[in-house]
Amino acid sequence: MSLARSFITWLSDQRPITRAIGATGMRLGFARRFIAGETLEEALHAAAELNAKGMLVILNQLGEHVTDPESARASFAAYQRMLEEISLRGLRASITVKPTQLGLGCAPELCLDLTKRLVADAAERGNFLEIDMEDSPTVDGTIALYEKIRQTHDNVGLAVQAYLFRTEADLQRLKPLRPKIRLVKGAYLEPPDVAFASKHDVDQNFVALMRVLFMDGFTPAIGSHDDAMIAKAKEFARAYGRSPEEWEVQMLHGIRRDLQDELVREGYRMRVYVTFGTEWVPYFMRRLAERPANVGFVVKSLVRGR
Ligand SMILES: Cc1cc2nc3c(=O)[nH]c(=O)nc-3n(C[C@H](O)[C@H](O)[C@H](O)COP(=O)(O)OP(=O)(O)OC[C@H]3O[C@@H](n4cnc5c(N)ncnc54)[C@H](O)[C@@H]3O)c2cc1C
Repeated sequence: MSLARSFITWLSDQRPITRAIGATGMRLGFARRFIAGETLEEALHAAAELNAKGMLVILNQLGEHVTDPESARASFAAYQRMLEEISLRGLRASITVKPTQLGLGCAPELCLDLTKRLVADAAERGNFLEIDMEDSPTVDGTIALYEKIRQTHDNVGLAVQAYLFRTEADLQRLKPLRPKIRLVKGAYLEPPDVAFASKHDVDQNFVALMRVLFMDGFTPAIGSHDDAMIAKAKEFARAYGRSPEEWEVQMLHGIRRDLQDELVREGYRMRVYVTFGTEWVPYFMRRLAERPANVGFVVKSLVRGR
């Protein structure tokens, strides 16, 4: 991991810094580059615009690591409302949740119950729920959660991270379920005994895992903005006879819009991950850490906004 990335990740834990960013980001506009807004209405508006451009959407309300059951229930209620609004407005959008937002860390049984109820609600509406993957201490709990829900529902997918050494074994374990898997590189600061540190090694593992997804009966969702990874995904789809309806590319709102448009023009399924909510600072900091050059537009906004 680069020094700049480690430094920005370290800054994410410094309260005065995150407070200053949180207080100014929406007003000065720099947070809107990655976040649709603070309200569901803004996210639904962004989703409708993306649908009009031929893109699918996956909606996420920001927030993670809740520490009490009440907050988990509040997140649950917000996701229920999201599913309802998606149906009412006829949007081509699914949802994705972070398990720690539904209580995985503080009340795992409650988390299972709430996630199951959301998946059931989504099934009734003909919709789909994906589960994000968070930092490495939560991976066992997240996979167990996924496996339990998959026993009764098939409208549920899971994200896995190419930077973790364990992911190939996890895919072998999940293979009999023939799941929809979102493959991402991984966005957290992980210790060297659990994760590849260099971009080269992460990319190499990403390609190896993509091959498994295309070859072994998974429904692949390739979550990346990396030209090389997308090119390889197209190659695997051709090699393993997967039509464009059988897999998709996912990208984050506001990143590589040019590539998103290009994929739609070429006839691929493109799904954009749209986030919103008031708890946007940790997500925003991860986006800065991925590409330290992004710090430039924050500094420019701060200088202009004074
Ligand atoms: C749909 C989706 C869902 C995700 N879900 C999860 C999850 O559940 N768990 C998890 O740990 N991570 C998740 N991530 C984040 C992921 O792990 C990576 O951190 C992120 O996607 C950057 O990796 P990359 O594959 O784009 O490749 P990189 O090698 O990081 O970047 C490739 C190129 O993409 C562009 N780019 C990438 N990031 C940025 C950025 N922040 N700002 C501007 N340009 C950028 C640049 O042009 C860069 O050269 C998700 C990513 C996507 C797209």
